[in-house]
Amino acid sequence: MSLQIARGREAKPPLRPLRSKQNVRPLLQEASEQSTAASPAKKVVLRFPVNTDTKAFYRKFYPGTSSIEWNDWRWQMRARIRTLDELARIFHLSEDEYRAVKMHSGSLPVGITPYYASLMDLKDSREPLRRTHIMTGEEYLRGPGEDDDPLAEDHDTAAPGIVHRYPDRVLFLTTGTCSTYCRYCTRARVVGNPGGEYQFSLRQWEQALTYLEEHTEVRDVLMSGGDPLTLGDDKLDWLLGRLRAIKHIEFLRIGTKVPVVLPQRITKSLVAMLKKYHPLWMSLHFTHPDELTDEVAESTARLADAGIPLGSQTVLLKDINDDISVIKPLMLGLLKRRVRPYYLYQCDPIRGSAHFRTPVEKGLEIIQGLRGHTTGYATPIFAVDAPGGGGKVQIAPDFVVGRDSDDLLLRNFEGDVYRYPDPGGTLGRDKKAKLAAE
Ligand code: SF4
Repeated sequence: MSLQIARGREAKPPLRPLRSKQNVRPLLQEASEQSTAASPAKKVVLRFPVNTDTKAFYRKFYPGTSSIEWNDWRWQMRARIRTLDELARIFHLSEDEYRAVKMHSGSLPVGITPYYASLMDLKDSREPLRRTHIMTGEEYLRGPGEDDDPLAEDHDTAAPGIVHRYPDRVLFLTTGTCSTYCRYCTRARVVGNPGGEYQFSLRQWEQALTYLEEHTEVRDVLMSGGDPLTLGDDKLDWLLGRLRAIKHIEFLRIGTKVPVVLPQRITKSLVAMLKKYHPLWMSLHFTHPDELTDEVAESTARLADAGIPLGSQTVLLKDINDDISVIKPLMLGLLKRRVRPYYLYQCDPIRGSAHFRTPVEKGLEIIQGLRGHTTGYATPIFAVDAPGGGGKVQIAPDFVVGRDSDDLLLRNFEGDVYRYPDPGGTLGRDKKAKLAAE
């Protein structure tokens, strides 16, 4: 069955009418709560910090915008930069960028929240965050081994939106909408489809839920997309409630980039709702230390305070983050924000992604630069998602040097070799001959 992300009219979850202006109200409420708690004469404290550079950016490019609007995630979604004109209004586009954006049609359009744009260099097209979101001509080149669906997700699609590859867990593609579109996206073929981004179809969700109800071996559901946190609170609440009602599902996860590129989405009402569905975990998609702003400190703190364990997933990208001097501060910065570095991924061979991919040994080199040199929690798992649907394959530096009789020979992070008494063991035996030959 092919992976279907149907587009069409937005269905309403039953029994939960959407509130009008639902995100403005809590915002004002929160602001006024804080102001009442303090003296009436004190200034209203906005719910999100706005870092200095971002403030200068929005005053320049969105002069009529109030702080309340800027901090309203729905305003950020509506105001996303999506057209060539809008890009050119804000960025000094290179000729290559200009041509590439102009040529584009189909899925994975340009889409950048004003907040995330404020973190980018407006003049330098080589700046890391900008390279991950504004297309270039290299996207139109197809490299060897590249494919629209390199992980064969379509093949493993068991019900609409349900990719069932591993024995006890599934991927649930809940939406095709993202707040920003990453140029290296594994699901480039299905996100941000033309003619209007996918809005969930209740009929599709029902089919997916029926599949999950029937498959009692599924104990772990990873909700992804697109980005599930682009759904409104009521829809997400409804879907999480339905998933929680399935007795054999023990564990729910949400994969999202929203807390990084649209931190204002992490409202107090959202976290209050999410808290009802524990155990609920979240995998956040970080790319670069420039993303670690005051706003992101706030979004991650709200999620962590709600008891949601946070992990990070980072795609290794050439000339963007493929250096220990970039990855290490990112990993350490995440720990400070209570986000545990989880995966460092080799970039998937989607069509037109050769310019983003590094040799696989680059990932090993980075892991070697972390392992032992800093807190163990700061070292993610380096993995390659095997093309064709093989699943994630973990690749780690080899610290086993060989074997000398009953001793296992191990190399530590500084390159020194140590003996570990291991009578009866066989690990490293095949390396002994090599060692003797050296
Ligand atoms: S946020 Fe995730 S799903 Fe959306 S474009 Fe980026 S990588 Fe793809």
